[in-house]
Amino acid sequence: MKYVCSKCGHEEEIQTLKAKCDCGGLWKLDYYMPTLSFKDRGAAVLVAYMKWLGIKHAVQDSSGNAGNSVAAYAGRVGIDCEIFVPEGTSDKKIRMIEAHGAKANVVPGNRDHCCEEHGRTCDALISMCGAGLKSDH
Ligand SMILES: [Zn+2]
Repeated sequence: MKYVCSKCGHEEEIQTLKAKCDCGGLWKLDYYMPTLSFKDRGAAVLVAYMKWLGIKHAVQDSSGNAGNSVAAYAGRVGIDCEIFVPEGTSDKKIRMIEAHGAKANVVPGNRDHCCEEHGRTCDALISMCGAGLKSDH
């Protein structure tokens, strides 16, 4: 097991007594996060905030890792989740998203098409709940 420097990428044995990398970067162990991705950092904060707001349904577009993170954290706290992924996303990533209880919607086309489709679904959800808000996609 090794630390990875957040600044230069240097790997250092975890037994090191050095508090920081020689370049000044901080040590990190992102590959030990629940979904093995640093995207968990943002997803944890985002989903905690959604839970605090009382959000019941989350929709996100992603090429894979961010969607997997949001699906994992949303599933853990009982928020329904739909992840829009572009065609060509690996089956492995799609299965990971679904393993967290989220629905993976594979959108034909590129990532931009995926974002557009996700935006339409967001607008529909916001309209359904009558919040009077317009999403900003
Ligand atoms: Zn460094």
